[in-house]
Amino acid sequence: MPKHDLILLAMDASPTLDLMERALHASDYELATTHDHAGLDRIVQQSIPALMIIGEHLGGEDGFSISMDVLERFPTMPIILYSEKTGSDAAAKVIRAGVSGFLHPPLRINDIVEEVQRNLSRASKLGDWLRREVKRTTASLEQKAKISEAERGKLEAIISNIQDGVIVLDESHHILLANKIVQEIFNLNGAPIVGGYLKDIIPNADLSALIDRARNGALKYHEINFDDGRVFNAQYTPLPRIGSAVTMQDISYLKEIDRLKNDFIHTVSHDLRSPLTSILGYMELIGRSGPLNDSQQEFLGRLQASVQHMTSLVNDLLDLGRLESGFDTRRETVDLCNVMEYSLNVFDSQIKSKSLQVITEFSPNIKSLRANPIRIRQMIDNLVGNAIKYTPPNGRILLNIVMQENQIVLRVTDSGPGIPADEQTRIFDKFFRASNRPRDVEGSGLGLAIVKSIVESHQGRVWVESKVGVGSTFVVLLPAHD
Ligand code: ADP
Repeated sequence: MPKHDLILLAMDASPTLDLMERALHASDYELATTHDHAGLDRIVQQSIPALMIIGEHLGGEDGFSISMDVLERFPTMPIILYSEKTGSDAAAKVIRAGVSGFLHPPLRINDIVEEVQRNLSRASKLGDWLRREVKRTTASLEQKAKISEAERGKLEAIISNIQDGVIVLDESHHILLANKIVQEIFNLNGAPIVGGYLKDIIPNADLSALIDRARNGALKYHEINFDDGRVFNAQYTPLPRIGSAVTMQDISYLKEIDRLKNDFIHTVSHDLRSPLTSILGYMELIGRSGPLNDSQQEFLGRLQASVQHMTSLVNDLLDLGRLESGFDTRRETVDLCNVMEYSLNVFDSQIKSKSLQVITEFSPNIKSLRANPIRIRQMIDNLVGNAIKYTPPNGRILLNIVMQENQIVLRVTDSGPGIPADEQTRIFDKFFRASNRPRDVEGSGLGLAIVKSIVESHQGRVWVESKVGVGSTFVVLLPAHD
């Protein structure tokens, strides 16, 4: 039998209280008695009783609401309410108060002791159950924490051992994670970078451009160029509920191979130009050196067309070589809308012969460019020329120029065949021609490579948005000149 449990008796002085004191004392319980609410609070502060018996009246206050009050603070405290009243009204009040036991007259000593014992044993079972539950939940949480710690360890090991640079950012572009390779790429000398703001920790213009433009979906890849010649391909991946990740692969060796290939093409093109010029010259002389019959005339015409095609190919290749070697440094103030108007004039007869509808939409506030006017004209001729070339008769071409912050945005939209989604990333590669191009449309696959080189040599970006059967939009972003 529990001998030393403290029982708090809180009720007005009465013969019933005396009876309770005697009964519980005789059963060896420790007792504390109070006749008011303040006394109850004081005792509770000193030592928490194992059980409380609260009278219906306590120093002029309602014992029911005091019980509710106590249960607010000690939800598992066993409380027996003593009420003079019996019947359903009193029982309803007791239930509402949420107490665990109820005593009412007529009272015998046994009734009191049994009710106290019953409530104490119930409270102890409840306590045991609670302790078990807390232990079980804690163990399961510990287990989960161990697992997630292990998972995190694994993830960190994977990220730090892969040979690509990896940076994980939160939504506000603070670094959550970065591997060793990132330190090496940006020569950070082991400085702590986790937690820092990316642009402060790694002030690299190419990386910042990727982050800024990828956020609004304009860019997913960007090359990061270093002064020592290294080039990295950086990719941006949004991570839902985390932020984003930037991965970087060293593509310097690919760039070197590309450079060697370009040098080779440049040399070959250069060496081909002189013989081609002399072939063209001699072909002209053939016509002058004596009368030709009709077949000879026709064959000569075909030869001339082919040699001219080869010459323009060689010229395009030489152009590309010059652009890629970065020798194009001529910069003048250029008005893009004017260049567009001139270009349209030249294409006028082709536009009319195909009955194309050409719409121009130029915002009035277009700033000028610092650019090489010949290259800008070449870029526009290629884009507009392609739109005209690939759009079927009676089609529609929209030329739109607007300002977006300090960038000039040119959009060339057509109602042509479109470009298959899986080929759009290769469309700017040299010699690449889309699989769905109309077979009768001639071309070398160099025009868009030249466009890309020109745009990039002016610190701009170009990409295509296209849907097969609907049309294509080529978008060019060029920094405006203040
Ligand atoms: P070319 O036109 O000489 O083939 P380009 O480099 O200008 O070379 O274009 C590459 C390829 O891109 C084309 O062969 C064609 O398949 C596709 N292309 C270019 N512009 C368009 C366009 N406006 N509509 C549909 N396809 C296009």
